[in-house]
Amino acid sequence: MTKNNEVIMFNSNEAAQYRTGLSGWVSRNGIYYGNDERAARYDGCTHVTCEDCGKPTSRGWLVCHDCIGIRDKKKYESMPKEAWDEKGMLYSQSADKYFSDWGEIDDYCDEEDIKIDSLMLVICKPNYLPLLDIDYGCDELPEDGELPDEIVEAIKDFNAVVKEVGAVSWLPSNKAAIIPLPDKPTGEK
Ligand SMILES: [Zn+2]
Repeated sequence: MTKNNEVIMFNSNEAAQYRTGLSGWVSRNGIYYGNDERAARYDGCTHVTCEDCGKPTSRGWLVCHDCIGIRDKKKYESMPKEAWDEKGMLYSQSADKYFSDWGEIDDYCDEEDIKIDSLMLVICKPNYLPLLDIDYGCDELPEDGELPDEIVEAIKDFNAVVKEVGAVSWLPSNKAAIIPLPDKPTGEK
């Protein structure tokens, strides 16, 4: 084992050794992999074969760009669908954008010249700030000790404000939003 602060001189025996009788796989980068052909090939390659369509795909990805889109779409289509309450937020998986109402979504579709279905909209779950717990300070108080009344009141007030403030951020859920049908021009049934 080499210690961290050990000095290995250029001309020392430890810096490099001449070896004979080696056989095995050597990658394009000159790294010896012994019998591990797969690792050697992976180290030396720039592209691998897409798992889905077989096209050359940059190393580090399992599937090509097109197939990522197809996989994402399939995954989205298999999600349970739900009507949006229009109170929270919607998240577009394809545009990586959050929307707060249908009008905003329509405007975005017009601007980008895309269809609403292509946005792959999912319903978001609200994140609330944590409330202060009833056992606040229990590690600091003596055994069977109680919080001072002012603190109990302050905790109640604080928690009331937290509830009043409501959601502070949104997290995409695994539920797809049902896209409402466009309004009928005559307003008839
Ligand atoms: Zn592919």
